[in-house]
Order: sequence, then structure tokens, then C-alpha cells
Amino acid sequence: MGKIVIAIDGYSGCGKSSTAKAVAKDLGFTYIDSGAMYRAATLHFLNSYLSPSNPQDVKKGLESMKITFLINPETGRQETYLNGLNVEDEIRTMAVSEKVSEIATVKEIRKELVAQQQRLGRSKGVVMDGRDIGSVVFPDAELKIFMTANLDTRSFRRQQELLEKGELVDLEMIKRNLAERDRIDSSRAESPLVKVADAVEIDTSNLTFEEQVAQIVHMAKEVIDNAKDHASNHR
Ligand code: C5P
Repeated sequence: MGKIVIAIDGYSGCGKSSTAKAVAKDLGFTYIDSGAMYRAATLHFLNSYLSPSNPQDVKKGLESMKITFLINPETGRQETYLNGLNVEDEIRTMAVSEKVSEIATVKEIRKELVAQQQRLGRSKGVVMDGRDIGSVVFPDAELKIFMTANLDTRSFRRQQELLEKGELVDLEMIKRNLAERDRIDSSRAESPLVKVADAVEIDTSNLTFEEQVAQIVHMAKEVIDNAKDHASNHR
């Protein structure tokens, strides 16, 4: 199958990551979770007592931080590593969620992570989810999706996810965190979350997980087929 880049952006807790992962699996593409990179950077700054508002600390933090992804051979799950340590579960905790949007406003941190994301997607055949993938990281992505869902649905889904990992969090607290992250992500000066003109909007509030995955896979196959037809017409 032809290789394209699929960019999935949208608000916090819309199910972008799980959808992107399933789309990638279906198409035989690589999934890249850009949010995990901002989360790992946040954990690094928290653990090292570095302040994102101090330029010296930012420099120190970036120099001492290495983020990688590895597939767990037992589960087949892609996991995030920070300086060689598996931090996949730790980066999903509320402690990190509460700080990550602040870290993600810092220009130098974004610059470094965007460069890494662009390297990871260079050979195409990738599905990447985040906030600025269609606008900044891959403005030429062949398929751009903007996912939305109402705040109540998103909060409930996030609560279930945390519960499955053994963290019981009050629904109102989750709602406040998602709303606050949306506010910071949409209003920041550096690469704010926007729906770009060529993105297809999918509201997942009333869709099942299978439906949202099928919609994106269908669109991706259309784009791949059109690209093939276009190439053969020009031969
Ligand atoms: O996708 P996830 O919710 O894990 O992302 C965590 C946070 O990382 C977001 O709320 C946002 O502040 C930041 N982020 C970003 N740009 C991306 C991906 C994530 O600013 N491409």
C-alpha cells in the first residue's frame, strides 16, 4: 500500500491517540504519539526541578533529555522512554497532565520536539496525533483530521482510562483539567491548536470507537488510491 502522512489534531481527551493507533495498525503504518513527547519532557522538568520559565533551565533540560519510543515485544504496545527509562505509565498521571500544557508553551521545547517528530515521519507511512501536526509539523500531510467531542463525553472517557490504570480521579477534576488544557493549547502564542482549512472535522461524541477508526481508514484509502491513479495518469 502507498505511504502517506496522516495528521490527527484536536482537543484533549477526544480519543485521538487510541484512534490514531488503530488506524495505523489497520494500514500497516507507524503510530507516533507527539503528546507523549510533551508529557515525557514535562516529567523530565518535574523530576529535575527545572523551571520552564527560566531560559537557563530550559537549555539544561533539553540538553539532558532523550525521548525514544520502543515496542514492548510482549504486548506489542509502543512505550515511551525518557533517558533510557520506561515512563509510559508515569507520563499519563494527573501530576503530568496538570503541568504539560505549560511546558508545551515554551518555544525552545517545541522547536526541539517538532524537529524530532519531523525526523520520525520523514519516510512517511505514519499516523501522528497532537495539536499542531497538520499546521506545523506536517503542513503537507496528505490527510488531516481534526477530532472533537463534547467536554462531558471526553471527561467520562478519560476517567475510564485512568481507572483502568488504577487511578481514581474525580470527574469534575478531569473536566477542569481538560478545559484548562484546551484553553492554554488554543490560546498560546507558539503553534496554537487550530483547525486548518484542509482538515476534515470528525465529532466523535456520538460515534463508537470502531466507527471513528473506520471513517479515517476509509478516507486514508481514498487518498492513497487517488495518489496511485494520479501517478499512473502521468506515466
Ligand atoms: O495528546 P496529549 O493529551 O497526551 O497531549 C498532552 C499535552 O501536550 C497537550 O495538552 C498539549 O499541551 C501538548 N501537546 C502539544 N502539541 C502536540 C501534542 C501535545 O502542545 N503536538
